[in-house]
Amino acid sequence: MLAEREPALRELERELSGVRDEGGNSFCANKYWYVRVAPRVAELVGAQAAAQDDPLLRAPEAYTLAYEVLYRLLPNCRNCVCVPW
Ligand SMILES: [Zn+2]
Repeated sequence: MLAEREPALRELERELSGVRDEGGNSFCANKYWYVRVAPRVAELVGAQAAAQDDPLLRAPEAYTLAYEVLYRLLPNCRNCVCVPW
């Protein structure tokens, strides 16, 4: 439903489905999310969303939902600071 109102979410979904752990010393899904994805999601949904006139997209729950759906598409953390937790 969110993606119907904001097609850019579908594009993000496609993009994140293609993210791979490229090897190297470590991969951190959290770091990837907060550096590369979160600012873009925040522009689309949640309290900071650009769509001023759409209360549904601007609901904080919309951001939470987008996070849950999109974050799951990223590879798992490996050898990063999150792993022991
Ligand atoms: Zn991590």
